[in-house]
Amino acid sequence: MIEQSRLLALLVDRSAAAIEANGSLLTRLDQEIGDGDHGINMMRGFSILQEIRDEISAHTFGGACQKAGMALVMSVGGASGPLFGSCLMAFGKGRAAMPETQTQTAAMLTDGIAAVMARGKSGPGQKTMLDVLVPVAEHIGSGGSISVASVRQSAADALEKIKPLEALKGRASFLGKRSIGHIDPGAMSVALIINAVCDVLEEAP
Ligand code: ADP
Ligand code: MG
Repeated sequence: MIEQSRLLALLVDRSAAAIEANGSLLTRLDQEIGDGDHGINMMRGFSILQEIRDEISAHTFGGACQKAGMALVMSVGGASGPLFGSCLMAFGKGRAAMPETQTQTAAMLTDGIAAVMARGKSGPGQKTMLDVLVPVAEHIGSGGSISVASVRQSAADALEKIKPLEALKGRASFLGKRSIGHIDPGAMSVALIINAVCDVLEEAP
């Protein structure tokens, strides 16, 4: 079993690398239906997490999520910093240990989703980051033994289902029906991070 601090460091490294590698994709998606800053916002936030990685990894799992979430809230402009930050903080709240079962993982995701919905005054079906978070949480919580590959697939399927939606929240909602046919940038960021976490789970079971 991999040491917890090493696992936390890997989670930060892989998530930050995934955002960094896809910064221009996130920018392009936000240029299509927003103001084009999502790549820069996310890269800024995750490069800060990378800088404070050792400090984050010295905490319990819950403490690490709260520390990382707070760093995003404090450092990232735009809607995404407070939304991704509150999500991470809610993952850590009242939860010292890393979730071990699918039920515990789904419960953690549900707490994060509730925090995003409260802060964003939003819900699923409005073409936001929630439209990847919610289906992935439902998939993990749906019972039965779920493979890492199926979690990746549920995120990929969710991204496809987002395209035909009309944006009802955030800047993309200003476009109304012209937002139809595009992938939401925040949803893409969630999918990238989920895949990065899956990479770590496969690398370091
Ligand atoms: P901004 O919209 O301020 O330019 P970003 O471009 O960094 O900030 O982030 C945009 C992303 O934030 C969207 O793609 C969407 O996924 C997410 N988002 C925006 N508003 C909300 C909301 N009210 N609820 C949930 N997610 C939202
Ligand atoms: Mg933007």
